[in-house]
Amino acid sequence: MLCYKLFYLHFHHIPCTHGVSDLSARFKVVRRTYLTNNMATRRQALLLSSSNCHGYSLLEFAKKDVCDFLTKNNVSELLFIPYAQKDYDAYTTKMQDVIEPWGFTVTGLHSYPDVIDAVNSSKAIFVGGGNTFLLLKTLYEHNLISLIKKKVDEGSLIYIGSSAGTNVATKSIHTTNDMPIIYPPSFEAIGIVPFNINPHYIETEHETHKGETRDQRILEYLEMTHANPVLGLREGCILHINGYNLTIKGIAGAVLFNVGEKTPKRYDVDSDMSFLCDQIKELA
Ligand code: ASP
Repeated sequence: MLCYKLFYLHFHHIPCTHGVSDLSARFKVVRRTYLTNNMATRRQALLLSSSNCHGYSLLEFAKKDVCDFLTKNNVSELLFIPYAQKDYDAYTTKMQDVIEPWGFTVTGLHSYPDVIDAVNSSKAIFVGGGNTFLLLKTLYEHNLISLIKKKVDEGSLIYIGSSAGTNVATKSIHTTNDMPIIYPPSFEAIGIVPFNINPHYIETEHETHKGETRDQRILEYLEMTHANPVLGLREGCILHINGYNLTIKGIAGAVLFNVGEKTPKRYDVDSDMSFLCDQIKELA
């Protein structure tokens, strides 16, 4: 009944403009909107704050989460996206050396003649860290942003991102720590989650250093009219995404900065962060 009511309301809110004037065309628009929104419940992603974490070798802190995630989704081959760094071969080899001994094959996206085909025929991608501006620009250049979003939403592609690879999975890259070394066509990113992330989050206070702290920089962003909430992931933090369910895992927690609030809220490992999806869930 509730479902019917929502459908009715939604249907009557579709304007009769833009050429969608007859009833059957309006019905199709509503149906498409519903399918697209409901598909988002199939999202499966792991967003890592970083690949390096103090006291661990590369990705070691995330080994169990990554292996369980791939196994649970029946994935044995990982497509690695090395666009955040300049030397694609060297970066891919570095990741192969770590991940292949865990029992999964890793292939660099750059080694395929057609990257769209490669993503379309892959079940899992790992987007590595480096410079977020360079990464986002290259993803746009290859027309991969909307393709990845669509495939992750419909559940045909699972996503692992680390650091810059985590930044580009969010609403926008305004809250990266990176220098804008190159222009992407937009700061809007893939949008697997409806908020921003600040990876490698740390409360830095040095008596002798007068540059902005991380918190000050994030608060500056929050004053903008285009600001989204920002989840600061401490090094070693892993955000698990399963449809609209979000949980903090890994070995360190996160800090949430809300628009209009001066003091961030701290969340420990195992915290349920699903409330961050409430808004998009209501729309679905
Ligand atoms: N440069 C970082 C990384 O990919 C991203 C960031 O700090 O925003 O490691």
